Amino acid sequence: MNAFEWVNATTVDEALGQMGSTSLLKAGGVDVLDRLKEGLDAPKRLVNIRNIKGLDRIEGDTATGLRIGPLVTLAQLDVHPVVRQSFTALADAAGHAATPQIRNMATAGGNLLQRPRCWYFRSRDFHCLKKGGETCFAQKGENQYHAIFRNDVCAIVHPSALGTALVALGGSLELTGPRGKRVVRAEEFFTLPAVAVDRENSLGADEIVTLIVVPPLVSGSRSAYTKLGEKESFDWPIAEVAVVVERSGVNVSRASIVLGAAAPVPYRAVAAEKVLVGKPLDDASARTAAKAALEGATPLSGNGYKTTLFETVIRRTLLEAGGAK
Ligand SMILES: Cc1cc2nc3c(=O)[nH]c(=O)nc-3n(C[C@H](O)[C@H](O)[C@H](O)COP(=O)(O)OP(=O)(O)OC[C@H]3O[C@@H](n4cnc5c(N)ncnc54)[C@H](O)[C@@H]3O)c2cc1C
Ligand code: SF4
Repeated sequence: MNAFEWVNATTVDEALGQMGSTSLLKAGGVDVLDRLKEGLDAPKRLVNIRNIKGLDRIEGDTATGLRIGPLVTLAQLDVHPVVRQSFTALADAAGHAATPQIRNMATAGGNLLQRPRCWYFRSRDFHCLKKGGETCFAQKGENQYHAIFRNDVCAIVHPSALGTALVALGGSLELTGPRGKRVVRAEEFFTLPAVAVDRENSLGADEIVTLIVVPPLVSGSRSAYTKLGEKESFDWPIAEVAVVVERSGVNVSRASIVLGAAAPVPYRAVAAEKVLVGKPLDDASARTAAKAALEGATPLSGNGYKTTLFETVIRRTLLEAGGAK
């Protein structure tokens, strides 16, 4: 780890003033510390934004939607009564990530902006495409945890559980920079390697995430989230699914089905969403939707098992959102 200057920012403006090509923002520091130790980042200045006041609140309800400060921790999201009761996919995504200790440190903004876990990317020994090299080592190498969709350029899987839930809930991010604020839908914020292989989102180098917005819930809609890991204790998922289901009478009027750990971005299973509309949500329709979700998958040599896994996780998550298991 290199030596660096430590700056404590107490306002967004102060943090913006300290940013530059050799600075790195630190919120909870969970991913940042890993990256410093791995040699992925060697900033001259670490800008600590953890103490900025006002960015650590959860406000709103089902009628107004949620306004979540980026410094809210995963632990707070997990237990917040409104989030848990009505925006269940978000509470469960937060509550199943990592370990209790990490969830106490990790912030929502940092979770959304953590860098991918691909072991070639995280290793000093592999100068892969994402780090400016010429090869994606995962294509012909060890790829059992890699993407099964949109994996032709770089096969990372999107790492953020909150990202998966936020896309399903139709959420947005407010980004603040020297030219003011802009709001970007989460679905557009996360970008594919074909857009720029060295990054995973459209945050500008001089911007800070200052708010996470979740729209109001349509009456009678329900959401659910399931994470499947290789082991029961802490780990990133090998498959995760967030769904939101809206109904008109007994039939589904709109569904949002998003897969995490499946593609370089939270992957919207549009074909599966269409299958459900106009049908009651039962085991048969959930099964058909789950099959449709995997259409077009392009598994690599070591991760074909994920297609079967995802079918099961999608079906179970849909049934949970529908009120059954
Ligand atoms: C053992 C282990 C298991 C884990 N399992 C999971 C899991 O199952 N699911 C999951 O989703 N995550 C998992 N994680 C990842 C963990 O949740 C993230 O590392 C953590 O949420 C990052 O949050 P942070 O506040 O510590 O971010 P930091 O490490 O402080 O920052 C992360 C990145 O975000 C940037 N950043 C932070 N806040 C802002 C902001 N407001 N504006 C602009 N940029 C910002 C930083 O510059 C940095 O690039 C796991 C981690 C560990 C160690
Ligand atoms: S999947 Fe992406 S990060 Fe991993 S080796 Fe390939 S290019 Fe690098």
